[in-house]
Amino acid sequence: MHSFHYINSVLHCEGVDLESLSQEVGTPAYVYSARTIRDHFRALQKALGSLPHRLCYAVKANSNLAILRLLKEEGAGFDIVSGGELFKVLKAGGSAGQCTFAGVGKMPHEIEYALGEGVYSFNVESEGELDLINAIAGRLGCKAPIALRVNPDVDTPTHHYISTGRHKNKFGIGLDRAESLYERAASLPHLKIRGIQTHIGSQILRAAPFLEAIEKLTPLVQRIQARYALEFFSIGGGLGIVYQGALASGDAAWWAQESRGEKLSAHDYARHILKPLEQLNLPIFLEPGRFLVGNAGVLLTKVLYRKETPEKNFLIVDAGMNDLIRPALYQGHHDLEPLVAPDDRPLEKIDVVGPVCESGDFFAQDRRLPRMEEGEHLAVMSAGAYGLVMASNYNARPLPPEILVNGSTASLVRRRQSWENLVREEI
Ligand SMILES: *Cc1c(COP(=O)(O)O)cnc(C)c1O
Repeated sequence: MHSFHYINSVLHCEGVDLESLSQEVGTPAYVYSARTIRDHFRALQKALGSLPHRLCYAVKANSNLAILRLLKEEGAGFDIVSGGELFKVLKAGGSAGQCTFAGVGKMPHEIEYALGEGVYSFNVESEGELDLINAIAGRLGCKAPIALRVNPDVDTPTHHYISTGRHKNKFGIGLDRAESLYERAASLPHLKIRGIQTHIGSQILRAAPFLEAIEKLTPLVQRIQARYALEFFSIGGGLGIVYQGALASGDAAWWAQESRGEKLSAHDYARHILKPLEQLNLPIFLEPGRFLVGNAGVLLTKVLYRKETPEKNFLIVDAGMNDLIRPALYQGHHDLEPLVAPDDRPLEKIDVVGPVCESGDFFAQDRRLPRMEEGEHLAVMSAGAYGLVMASNYNARPLPPEILVNGSTASLVRRRQSWENLVREEI
């Protein structure tokens, strides 16, 4: 479900011709569809129906201010993982009272900032953090609202770097220790218990692990709720998206292999988890990131060189792993689509690589793609989540610009970083 389509053989985002846009703003560049983000947000809202709930967008997936503003207008709250993300939410016109603060390594100055701004809840991940928040709240003369992130120890069928719900992961508090930690929280003078939280991982394409986590936590949630009058149970984010085959060209075999053909719609997800959640009679928070923005973005890039060797053929493009690290970091798959796609192009098997001095700097290996020539543009699809937010200046490459499309209007929402700004903080 997204708004990227070919019209007369030219790839469009909503009403905007991406080939013309590439020539206008240059490449590499990120382009996002506002309509796709809204559609996904509304689909999830609708699927949850009458369940008392709140969607807290996981800001780390894409923190461009224009996207935060768009989601705020849709009625989203925010799940943040740093003081910097809170700062961005406030800049976008959101308030701390709409934010839950996650993360295993909250720093004292971040806790102080979030408390001062009136954050809705700290989702606490360790005993040490509980003590620190209590101490800081005491110093500031206030009560800090908290929830405990409980690790349900469920197996999540996803890449091991983005699985978080096992006991061996660094995340959350073990199910067996949660109750005593709630007692400890209740005994500390500067804490107010507000909720309970869990998050089992990311890019999960089956409902079963979510359901398993909810069922494993239900007895605990009920006991804690009876004792402390909870205001919410957050079941985290993690809904996966389809990375392959949204547009039909190229080689579909890889996706079949990675996802076993799975796809989890908002409706299917909700259908599985609604019943046990309704029985809890407690507001349910969800923290979707990738599901809302992943399919809503593409990274536009240009073929710099065709390099043919006896072993392999390469397309060397002007976007690199510094712009989009998912393939290098998680073996993440992204479809690649030519911006201009005449029907008569022969397919060829090729590696698509970036300019960065690392062999891990690739977007595709042995991929069957329509033959592309030097100077032509292509779109790296489904790059709206964990794209620009993970970009770096490696190889002293400036960050690319971001463009938000709304209907037939394309707005520059981040300008291309300049070389001057590469050295601005250096002394
Ligand atoms: C990363 C994260 C999310 C969002 O994950 P998605 O897979 O992008 O939905 C939600 N909650 C927490 C605590 C996270 O760390």
